[in-house]
Amino acid sequence: MVPDITSGELADSYTYSIPSDLRLQRGDAVLIPFGHRTIVGFVERITDLVEETDYDLKPVQERIDGVTLSENLLKLTDFIADEFVSTSGAAIAAAMPPGIRTRLTTYYEGAGTGETPAQVSILSALERRGRLSEKAVRATPGFTEVALKALIAAGVVTKNVGLPAERKTNAAGYTVDDARNAREFIRTSGAKKPAQAQCLAVLLESPATPMTPAEIAVLSRVSDATVKALIADGLLEMAETETIHSANETKVKLNSDQLRAATSIETAIKAGEFSHKLLFGITGSGKTEVYLRSIGQALAIGKQALYLVPEIALTAQVVGQLKARFGRSVAVMHSGLPTGERLRNWRRAASGDAPVVVGARSAIFAPLNNLGLIVLDEEHDGSYKQDNAPRYDVRALARERAQNENCVLVAGSATPSVETFYRGIQGEIEVLRLPKRAAAMALPEVHVEDLREAYKAKKPSMLSERLRKELAHTAQVGEQSLLFINRRAFARSLLCRDCGITPQCPRCSVALTYHARPLHLRCHHCNYKTNVFDRCPACGSLRIRPLGIGTQRVEEFVRREFPGMKVERLDRDIASRRGAVEEIFARVRSGETQTLIGTQMIAKGLDFENVTLVGVIAADIGLSIPDYRSTERTFQLITQVAGRAGRKKPGRVIVQSFAPEHPSIRLGAAQDYEAFYAEEIKERQGAQYPPFVRLVNVIISGADRAAVHEAAAKAKELLDDRLDTATMYGPAECALARLHGNWRSHVLVKLPLSFRMTEFPRTREFDAPSNVNITVDVDPGNLM
Ligand code: ADP
Ligand code: ZN
Ligand code: ZN
Repeated sequence: MVPDITSGELADSYTYSIPSDLRLQRGDAVLIPFGHRTIVGFVERITDLVEETDYDLKPVQERIDGVTLSENLLKLTDFIADEFVSTSGAAIAAAMPPGIRTRLTTYYEGAGTGETPAQVSILSALERRGRLSEKAVRATPGFTEVALKALIAAGVVTKNVGLPAERKTNAAGYTVDDARNAREFIRTSGAKKPAQAQCLAVLLESPATPMTPAEIAVLSRVSDATVKALIADGLLEMAETETIHSANETKVKLNSDQLRAATSIETAIKAGEFSHKLLFGITGSGKTEVYLRSIGQALAIGKQALYLVPEIALTAQVVGQLKARFGRSVAVMHSGLPTGERLRNWRRAASGDAPVVVGARSAIFAPLNNLGLIVLDEEHDGSYKQDNAPRYDVRALARERAQNENCVLVAGSATPSVETFYRGIQGEIEVLRLPKRAAAMALPEVHVEDLREAYKAKKPSMLSERLRKELAHTAQVGEQSLLFINRRAFARSLLCRDCGITPQCPRCSVALTYHARPLHLRCHHCNYKTNVFDRCPACGSLRIRPLGIGTQRVEEFVRREFPGMKVERLDRDIASRRGAVEEIFARVRSGETQTLIGTQMIAKGLDFENVTLVGVIAADIGLSIPDYRSTERTFQLITQVAGRAGRKKPGRVIVQSFAPEHPSIRLGAAQDYEAFYAEEIKERQGAQYPPFVRLVNVIISGADRAAVHEAAAKAKELLDDRLDTATMYGPAECALARLHGNWRSHVLVKLPLSFRMTEFPRTREFDAPSNVNITVDVDPGNLM
């Protein structure tokens, strides 16, 4: 039995007895006594006791109705427990239906003839309503406790625990009432009501298709109140009937590359066997159309499809397209939706009513039982790796699920992860190529600016002369620019020019970041804040200066250089103010903002037609991160940011770099994935990193440094003892040696690909003292 203890790390398996009148199967949810409480658990295994145990097992109290994890989902949670060194409890908690923690109710069911007036009354109410809640049964005319007890004792009525009954009504769908009115509203009221304008703009960019108010809120990143206001004002209207564009009606004619890919996927779906394909298509090559076509093929033969995306709020368009094409067949799974709606969608997937499920990470646990296709969009995205327990990787889960359920997995990307592409080259994954943009527009022209020249000429500047000229020109002709820099704040840190020290966070081993307006120093890990010193705390010097650049400094520079230009900044500091992101997007969309400066937040998912210039201010920032993936990440980022330019009009990209010959800069600028891959795979092989080995990062952390060091040494001994095929590094303090006041050490383990992860010591086997925490991170997303 696996109790679901909310903090998944603790959850483990316990043994209970099954009362003789209870019929249970593996995967059933049950109520069990745990300490002084009653909690929810799941049946992991049922065994016959061979001999009398010397202590009394506590019995299971009750089965929870209608909440059984299917054998397929249990295989997946077993896989997480085995392959990602997780507890069963944490794995099962990830797969549980929504609402099971908060929505359980007691209710009565049954039918028959009553003997007393009270019994007759209860039974006729049951006949009318199907089931009665605790409250409703007590409200029946003439109710007596005795009558209810007698009915239960006679087996006529049963008392059950389960999730609330499904409401018969479908949540109403809303659409934009009149596109012209909506555009007019964005133009005239966008400044005053930016959230409403943002919401309408997102809806207008997707095919007009009914969505529930909660879905609209999640997809356009606004609050429920905003959606309600739009409904009240008549800008959104309840859709009378759903207009599903028939598959034929919406059919764009696939080009020959798309057709080849779609045909290959279709053949595989029809074969009903496991296969893994990589749709490797440049940005704008029409991958989405291939996914949609393939989903249609799966549905046509009565199968279901799962569409996974890295982040649902950045995917409004895809959800719109899915709904436009497949209508009510589509269920959105997202933690931002209210529990009731999540539960409804979960049930619609489980019952077969919604054969298409779209969602982020957790949708991999969608209760579909006749799966024909899994789409894994933007497969390279780091957010597919979960960075708290259970630390699974959706890419591995998707493959496992496809294998278990004999279905087709299609992963897609313009910049596939090196691991996936390697498997493609090895023939383990079939690579389907889309080498051309689908609509006419060519890829943007990219220029790499060598910053070293300006430094040599003693004319260093944050923006090269070329970028400054282009920026001015773009604004002049009424087009827009994005300036990208992957660091928020004003400067990386403060530096004393005399003694060279930089102020550090007292709780984390990182330099404090320098923020302007309001002026302060802040830790980007734990948020510790302090005043900026005007004297060096170490040597008393006054020559203490900001070092490096961040979004605020770029903003200040651009405002000074281009007085009158409408400049905005978007980073996490700004986004933390409610509604700020919507306001900024609304102003960019309306054309008011000429130049938008920002971090990754502007690189992902933004699609503004009028953006024709993209500047990457300091392309090398990520390269200095001590992680074997930093080269790959930089390449992906440059390719992605560059893809923001010229979606509808020809675009230009300027990449500023101190290392223009570095493969991730040079080949990112050339948008040449395969050349980058060829270089990177050699590096990986030489240094023995994935895909040539498997990595496991064992992190030992705690407030007491000596205890952490001691536990780390002990951990290393255990690992040495248990893993004879491994290469190990450490124990050593992590690059982030201290975080939130906790000291961190790690042992980095490299394992041969043939290693069976079930052999890896489980967290509890490290037997760490209570003030030390052990984290086993398999296939880690970062090594910091
Ligand atoms: P990707 O996902 O590969 O980046 P998209 O799926 O967003 O590319 O497609 C880019 C654009 O090309 C979209 O506007 C899409 O409607 C259009 N498109 C896709 N396939 C075709 C086609 N066969 N003919 C014309 N336009 C297409
Ligand atoms: Zn000093
Ligand atoms: Zn800190």
